[in-house]
Amino acid sequence: MTHVIDGNAVAEDVRADVADAIDTLEAEGVTPGLATVLMSDDGGSQTYVSMKQRACEEVGIDGTTVEIDPDAPAQELYDTIDELNADPSIHGILVQMPVPDHVDQREVLRRVDPMKDVDGFHPENVGRLVAGEPRFKPCTPHGIQKLLASADVDVEGKDVVVMGRSDIVGKPMANLLIQKAEGGNATVTVCHSRTQDLEAKTRNADIIIAAVGVPEMLTGDMLSEGVVVIDVGTNRVDADNEKGYTLTGDVEFESAKEKASVISPSPGGVGPMTIAMLLYNTVRAASLESGVDVDL
Ligand code: NAP
Repeated sequence: MTHVIDGNAVAEDVRADVADAIDTLEAEGVTPGLATVLMSDDGGSQTYVSMKQRACEEVGIDGTTVEIDPDAPAQELYDTIDELNADPSIHGILVQMPVPDHVDQREVLRRVDPMKDVDGFHPENVGRLVAGEPRFKPCTPHGIQKLLASADVDVEGKDVVVMGRSDIVGKPMANLLIQKAEGGNATVTVCHSRTQDLEAKTRNADIIIAAVGVPEMLTGDMLSEGVVVIDVGTNRVDADNEKGYTLTGDVEFESAKEKASVISPSPGGVGPMTIAMLLYNTVRAASLESGVDVDL
């Protein structure tokens, strides 16, 4: 019987822990604050930002959204980041990606105060993660670690294939999995568009994390019996419905479920965890800044 992970339920547990930690902070007069900066008129980005705003309100984080005209000069975004860095009521800053082409994305990542970098993308925080001293684990891979733990999947000594090498999912995921730490100690193969004979690698894997952005690319015939599959993909595909699209993962769910012992579907798996871990990191940032210890 395949165990289908319920990402919403696991995210709910994380939110409950976050809410308890916020009570501890509030008792010491600290209200965690998260600023989200949106410089895009893309519908998907706007939806993500409003979901994050709502999630903050639900747990008691003071969430604010700063909207910048996508045609404004890049300096306006840099100045906004500087102001938020200097604002003591803001503990976490998140710049919604992608930013317009005329903005230097690397400058944006470098500009955010590393103590407020709740995405964990500042080079200092990336370095700390690689060195085994993470301050803020990036939200999506951290959420995946929690999903695996929730299903009692011990990654230690397992062969894990990470499909995708992006800075936000694949690379930090691989880094977390190879750490000599809880949730780590795996043997990791990172695959990408230049990988030869991907199927040979996926068939050998005990655990597969699929983050390629290609709808239903990983199919059951590429898997061995008993594999654990985590589907990170969130792809819009055309559909004959009101919205004109539906969301689908990087895994062909039905055929993969035939082989898997544990599978995390998309939607309903990693997505809710990413937002929950953002709340977690914001509370952690508030705890680090204020010196008030919380149980997370
Ligand atoms: P990305 O930046 O586009 O990276 C995709 C990676 O997949 C790249 O490393 C690429 O290789 C590799 N790839 C593409 N086609 C491939 C193929 N045919 N065979 C093997 N590797 C291939 O994507 P991302 O930001 O990591 O996101 C991946 C997916 O996860 C997307 O669907 C995204 O929407 C979703 N996502 C979901 C969440 C969530 O919270 N649920 C969060 C983040 C991302 P190269 O490096 O060689 O180009």
